[in-house]
Formats: sequence, C-alpha cells, structure tokens
Amino acid sequence: MIAANIEKINQEIGKGARLIAVSKTKPVPDLLEAYAAGQRLFGENKVQEMVSKQTQLPADVQWHLIGHLQRNKVKYIAPFVAMIHAVDSLSLLKEIEKEAAKNNRIIPVLLQVFIAEEETKFGLNEEELYELLNEVNKGDYAHVQISGLMGMATNTTDQHTIRQEFKHLKQLFDIVKEKYFTHLEYFKEISMGMSSDYPIAVEEGATLVRVGSLIFGERG
Ligand SMILES: *Cc1c(COP(=O)(O)O)cnc(C)c1O
Repeated sequence: MIAANIEKINQEIGKGARLIAVSKTKPVPDLLEAYAAGQRLFGENKVQEMVSKQTQLPADVQWHLIGHLQRNKVKYIAPFVAMIHAVDSLSLLKEIEKEAAKNNRIIPVLLQVFIAEEETKFGLNEEELYELLNEVNKGDYAHVQISGLMGMATNTTDQHTIRQEFKHLKQLFDIVKEKYFTHLEYFKEISMGMSSDYPIAVEEGATLVRVGSLIFGERG
C-alpha cells in the first residue's frame, strides 16, 4: 500500500516538486517500507521522534523537520537534519547558526510565512519576514542557508481560498528572491501542500510537498 501510494503521488506531482513523506507518529517499519519503495525525504515534526528514527533508518535518508522547533532542541538535530522548514524568528535562526557551526555544517532552512485565514501562533507575517531578512543581511550567518519559504493553507474545503493562499506564498517568494537572493541559486524552495491540497500547491509552484496521511494512512 505505502509503495503504491508513493508512486501515485509522485505521478501526480510530476517533475516540478519533490515529495516529503511525513512519517510523524508512524512506526519505523512503515518508514522502511517507504524507503524500500525509493522514498528518501522524510518529514517529522518532533525532535525526539526524528532523532530516534534517524538511528533506525539508512544513512541516506534526508530528514526534514517540518514542525515548530524550540531553540533548546536544535542541538539534537543539528548533526544530521537535511532541512528545517519552520523558522519563524531571528532567535531560532541564530541558534541554528550556532549549532550548525559547532557541527561544521551548513543547514538549509525555510522561513515559515503565515498565509492562512486562521489564527495560529506560528509563522511570520510579511512585515516580520522582511524585518528578519534585513537583520540576516546585517549579520554573519555562514552556517545557515535560507533556501526558501514554507507555508500552510487554511484548513478548509474551499479550494479557491487554498489556491489564493498558495498564490500569495509564491508571490512573496518571487519578491524575496528578487530583493534578497538575486543570483543566489540556493533560494529556490517553496514548501507547501499536504495530503488534502498538494495538487493545488504543485499547480501554484510548490517545489516541496509534505504528505503524510495519504501515504501512511490516517494518524491515530
Ligand atoms: C502533519 C503535517 C503535514 C502532513 O499532513 P497530512 O495531512 O497528513 O498530509 C504537513 N505539514 C506539516 C507542517 C505537518 O505538521
């Protein structure tokens, strides 16, 4: 089942985007099944769970931390994490810089932008996004690579709302790229789309989609 699900989703997203298999709460054998089907990008939202699974899966898995990250936990994932998706403050970015330097690594990160209608604690609004980028420009962040933006659409069945929110994130991406990352090829990722809305996200320019339940089944 897992292998067939992955194949189906990969066909749907085509070449424009890469699939992150969101394996949070799922047991290691499920991840191994996905791995055997060729899946290499895995997404987790809890540090402890990611660290534990990392030791149990092959070394060529690329681990994406997709959930909110507390500063005091960065050190546990800094040695191996492939990308941190939900950076939403300068203090978190500074901590990642510090821990990446300790590990002699450059860690790719995405800035989480708030695009939904719903109230949530996480994500930068536009003003905060530019403030953060201005601060980064002034500082020395040699061990983090801001690789793009991440966002989550409103949890709604209204396709139009979802599409508008994804369009908005793509527009912001284009503005930020032009203003802060001209000619910097690593700023290229737009992480958007989950099980319920990834086809729309791909149409609107997602380069990374984060799909869980459609691959592994509903979470308990
Ligand atoms: C859980 C989660 C997903 C995947 O959700 P599904 O609906 O199971 O595809 C994607 N992104 C984030 C940030 C998540 O926490």
